[in-house]
Amino acid sequence: MRKEEYEGRCGKRLAERKKRRRKARIRRIILLGAAVLTACLIAAGGKWIGEIQEEKRLLEARNDSFTGAPPFQVDLLDINEYSRPGIPLEQINGIVIHYTANPGSTAQNNRDYFEGLKDSHETKVSSHFVVGIEGEIVQCIPSSEIAYASNSRNSDTLSIECCHTDETGKFTEATYTSLVRLTGWLCYRFNLTSEDVIRHYDVTGKICPKYYVDHPEEWEQFKEDVGEQIKAVEQEVLAEKGE
Ligand SMILES: [Zn+2]
Repeated sequence: MRKEEYEGRCGKRLAERKKRRRKARIRRIILLGAAVLTACLIAAGGKWIGEIQEEKRLLEARNDSFTGAPPFQVDLLDINEYSRPGIPLEQINGIVIHYTANPGSTAQNNRDYFEGLKDSHETKVSSHFVVGIEGEIVQCIPSSEIAYASNSRNSDTLSIECCHTDETGKFTEATYTSLVRLTGWLCYRFNLTSEDVIRHYDVTGKICPKYYVDHPEEWEQFKEDVGEQIKAVEQEVLAEKGE
């Protein structure tokens, strides 16, 4: 064999070996990259699932929370097709405020009127809560069921009826205070903001609650007060947890 030929063959083998080694290195890098990427995806997926579960747990804990609630009496209506149909309220996207349009009546009077509809069959109407002139609160329907108060929004809102002393529909200070506390607590409980609090008027154009249709600036003030109350409930919950 001639010297050049020998050197030529050696050089070719060396080059092939180098090429193989380079290919192997690239393969290792790709495998390593894929392994790291898979690990990252699994970790991110796990974290994501963990976050969803944690959020669900927190929401469920909120739904059961009575921290920051004003005192209220639970006097549920009997299930009947005129005021408590017993239909599950699948989601709560808002709270609708009403006035009774019946000056001087108490929370209990209004609750008893709803209850009487099961016999009188006069009309179909009800509300989850009624707030009275003295600030007393009566719950008539559980927040897990629909009420007959807000027309097309019955299926995804809670309703609060408020008593008043005269035709202007203005709430007493006691009614107002209880209403702000009740609405703020319900917003916290069902993860709503003050922007999710609406008037019956905003659903159908009905003049209800009259005073807040006549005085839109007072309605804005009410929503602001509810916003502050939501924060107060949140603080109370945190204080209870010792955070
Ligand atoms: Zn109304």
